Amino acid sequence: MAVARLYDDNLYQFDTPQRSYWEATGGSERFNATPLATNESCDVAIIGGGFTGLSAALHLARDHNVDVRVLDAGHIGWGASGRNGGFCCVGGTGLHRHALIKQVGIESAREFYQASSDAVEFVRTLAVDENIDYQTFGNAEIEVAHSQRAAAALKKDHEVLTGALGMRAELISAGECKERFYDSSETYGALINRPAFGLHPLRYCRGLAASATQHGAVLHSRSQVRSWQKDDQGTHRLLTDGGLVRAKRVIYASNGFIQEELHSEFYGRTLPIISAIVVTRPLTSDELDAQSWRTENPAINSRLVMNYFRLLPDGRFLFGGRGHTVGDPEGESQTYDNNIAAMKRIWPAWRHVDIDFRWHGLICYTATLRPSIGPLDDDNSVLFGFGYHGNGVNMASWTGKQLADWIASGKRPEGVPSIITGLARKFPLPKHRAAFFRLGVKIAKWRDSRS
Ligand SMILES: Cc1cc2nc3c(=O)[nH]c(=O)nc-3n(C[C@H](O)[C@H](O)[C@H](O)COP(=O)(O)OP(=O)(O)OC[C@H]3O[C@@H](n4cnc5c(N)ncnc54)[C@H](O)[C@@H]3O)c2cc1C
Repeated sequence: MAVARLYDDNLYQFDTPQRSYWEATGGSERFNATPLATNESCDVAIIGGGFTGLSAALHLARDHNVDVRVLDAGHIGWGASGRNGGFCCVGGTGLHRHALIKQVGIESAREFYQASSDAVEFVRTLAVDENIDYQTFGNAEIEVAHSQRAAAALKKDHEVLTGALGMRAELISAGECKERFYDSSETYGALINRPAFGLHPLRYCRGLAASATQHGAVLHSRSQVRSWQKDDQGTHRLLTDGGLVRAKRVIYASNGFIQEELHSEFYGRTLPIISAIVVTRPLTSDELDAQSWRTENPAINSRLVMNYFRLLPDGRFLFGGRGHTVGDPEGESQTYDNNIAAMKRIWPAWRHVDIDFRWHGLICYTATLRPSIGPLDDDNSVLFGFGYHGNGVNMASWTGKQLADWIASGKRPEGVPSIITGLARKFPLPKHRAAFFRLGVKIAKWRDSRS
């Protein structure tokens, strides 16, 4: 099945690592997983060595003694897991909380928020249990109103979060936000959401890989699955350039980097979206003072085309936002310039600060704007987990464990909300989804410019 990729080839250079801040400060050498060079058999083969695939492998090997192999087209952590913002926060849908309640009802929305909150604590516990050094930073997420109108909306958000959704959130005024956290040209009040914290995503990812290996999982980097077939005996055959893996079950864990041509069931179910990050040189204490910056907590703003930002442990500032809608090098460099200009507009005291790192990657939306996990309806030997809508640090890690438990028990684990169970429906006119998305971004930017 020939399927055109939604973005420029620039996004799929599996042999080239992103020159990210995380790669520069990852601590150890790239996780050493040799490419597949032989023909092998196993119980479960996993396509994708990010949080979903590694967590699934770790839990299958550690908790269920399953013979498992992971194949990644790049190096381990090459995908979004090794290059995200490192926000471990409640979330995982592309829907605002009110819209989620409207779409699925209060009970289901509450169940989802509980799972997402549990997923944040799950990351913390997993890292402690597996002794992963992942540089936690901060103990809450700041959700900042970027305008007066957004500040008024935060009041309703606070009510619904702490009421119907049963979450921990604190509503603070613009003055309090400036006193406790930071000042900027657009700070009109904030919600302080918990549980949440920042982490070093690549260290965390490599830690998961090391633990999975210690517990018996076998990992292969630079082993892109080129074809996936199921033979008459029901055995899956995953072919790479170096060898073949035969497996009783397959977990498809490639999220935004999914290769839709590999399996017809996955065609048209995802909308990968580019997210882009820039990181400054270390800021001096005078520069931090000039914007009253005094928080380690990760933060987001309330724009429709949202920005996420945080101070890093070495004093650098990370600023992220929507990437280009095509991903070619020229468009990409334009996006970085726009994001840098936005950052300097919000924190004018930093307008002379140099940018040391810039990189991008793919997050993954679905047509329901919710994650999608479980086995295929008509073939329970194929499982999947994707569609974390930019909140995969917690949700992808948690999903990996749920998939492992699903395989071991043969049924949906308790605590997996029904609204994220099963394959997300196809996008209407899937061939044109990227074009519709580009139009949607233009409209959202226009609306942001008027708010
Ligand atoms: C710039 C950016 C910032 C983000 N910030 C945050 C954040 O702060 N907090 C948060 O919670 N989430 C964030 N996210 C989202 C989060 O990183 C993802 O949701 C999460 O990492 C998804 O993990 P995954 O394992 O499912 O997929 P990935 O980590 O993307 O891994 C998929 C893997 O599949 C592999 N693959 C693809 N095709 C094949 C094939 N044919 N054969 C073998 N391997 C293949 C790829 O090489 C890739 O490594 C961000 C994402 C990006 C891009």
